[in-house]
Amino acid sequence: MSDAIVVGAGPNGLAAAVALAQRGLRVTVLEAADEIGGGTRSSELTLPGLLHDHCSAVHPLGVGSPFLRTLGLERYGVDWAWPEVDLAHPLDGGRAGVLLRSMERTVRGLGADGPAWERLFAPLTDDFDALLDDVLRPVVHLPAHPLRLGRFGVRALQPATAVARRWRGEEARALFAGAAAHAFHPLTRPLTASLGLMFVAAGHRYGWPVARGGSRVISDGLAALLRELGGTVETGVTVRALTELPPARIVMLDVAPRAAVGICGPALPARVRRAYLRWRHGPAAFKVDLAVAGGVPWTNESCREAGTVHLGGTLEEVVHSESETSRGRMPERPFVLLSQQYLADPGRSAGDVHPVYAYAHVPHGYTGDATEAVLGQIERFAPGFRERIVGIAVRSAVELSQYNPNYVGGDIIGGANTEVQLALRPRMSLDPYSTGIPGVYLCSAATPPGAGVHGMCGANAARSALRYLDR
Ligand SMILES: Cc1cc2nc3c(=O)[nH]c(=O)nc-3n(C[C@H](O)[C@H](O)[C@H](O)COP(=O)(O)OP(=O)(O)OC[C@H]3O[C@@H](n4cnc5c(N)ncnc54)[C@H](O)[C@@H]3O)c2cc1C
Repeated sequence: MSDAIVVGAGPNGLAAAVALAQRGLRVTVLEAADEIGGGTRSSELTLPGLLHDHCSAVHPLGVGSPFLRTLGLERYGVDWAWPEVDLAHPLDGGRAGVLLRSMERTVRGLGADGPAWERLFAPLTDDFDALLDDVLRPVVHLPAHPLRLGRFGVRALQPATAVARRWRGEEARALFAGAAAHAFHPLTRPLTASLGLMFVAAGHRYGWPVARGGSRVISDGLAALLRELGGTVETGVTVRALTELPPARIVMLDVAPRAAVGICGPALPARVRRAYLRWRHGPAAFKVDLAVAGGVPWTNESCREAGTVHLGGTLEEVVHSESETSRGRMPERPFVLLSQQYLADPGRSAGDVHPVYAYAHVPHGYTGDATEAVLGQIERFAPGFRERIVGIAVRSAVELSQYNPNYVGGDIIGGANTEVQLALRPRMSLDPYSTGIPGVYLCSAATPPGAGVHGMCGANAARSALRYLDR
């Protein structure tokens, strides 16, 4: 018999399982897919010998995660690898905004905007670890570092566009806009600055590394640690109802809120049920994986060395495309996130043929084909790119939702980043992880602090569960 059952072996489910097993609980993880990992799987998607990440690619918050950092995952095969350039955001005419771990080199590259960049990000970067302790938790908590959190909060509450306007040049503005666009939300809305600030500060503190051997090694590492702690993982098991599960003191659900309604059934208190059914999902991703002979022929030199390249043009263009996708309209030139993980981890390539990862932001539930729009954005900044494509694999928004039930309508971040949902996820409660059923918790990316491979939703939910057991 298990003390705890975890439904879903994504990074949050596995982090919750490890946190519970560390306290001596016998933990069983049940995963619907044939493979563990959820949003961290990797395999050969295009050609033999080319390793592609299916979902997560770059991990500034993985390397910095207050929970993952305590686990010593390097003993279980997790090895972070950094590209020369962390992030580049090309503009027409061969220019680019460039983010490097080095503040000094980033500032130098931004020219006249450099000093203002440094004034904003140097204090955030210096305080980053303390800040993460507070930011990667539910909004309603007693802050460990109230002054630092307050300083961050004043700016984080703003729309990304308000923060971007402190710079004059297109490079700095676009660089920040691209980082903030990870919100999948109109950049004119309050709180969207928070994501830009976090991702840039994380870049200066930890860089934007990839996991050597593919993102899958992160969940493989967590699962190996779990097994060492006596836990077990079963794949190919879809959990449809709590009543199907063997008795356990704790159940953790690494699922979307609406799925939790189905699984919990009538046991779920009516107010929680209503809140979970009200949970809104946002725009979707459209994924394109490519095998590229000789790599992407970027016009801008820094893009050739960049692990991540944001393709969206100027601040104004990114604002427009993000606003369109949020309104359910497909922009002609969508925001595209591209990763060249092989630059930091050459073992992913086969000779001079390299795996290139890209996804566009598209409307929720988008049924169209965005492949051409993705290729067009790459070609715009890398003329001649199309001739180098020797393999391609596409996963549309609809296919993403079939690939992983947590990606409702192709929403890969677990819920729209509206002001209310950013602050109070998945519902207003002093314990946002509790489902209201004693011992049953939600631990997916719909809970604080939200999407990303940092394991903090799982670790925080496990903390709530342990408090319940200690009562
Ligand atoms: C295209 C894409 C790109 C991304 N890029 C990045 C990135 O670069 N960096 C980053 O940090 N994050 C990135 N993310 C986001 C990241 O992958 C997710 O935020 C993260 O995986 C969420 O973890 P999770 O454990 O909450 O859920 P998931 O990883 O989605 O895992 C949930 C698991 O639960 C299983 N499950 C669901 N329902 C059931 C059920 N009823 N019974 C049994 N099992 C069930 C699912 O099969 C799945 O394996 C990306 C995601 C996508 C899709």
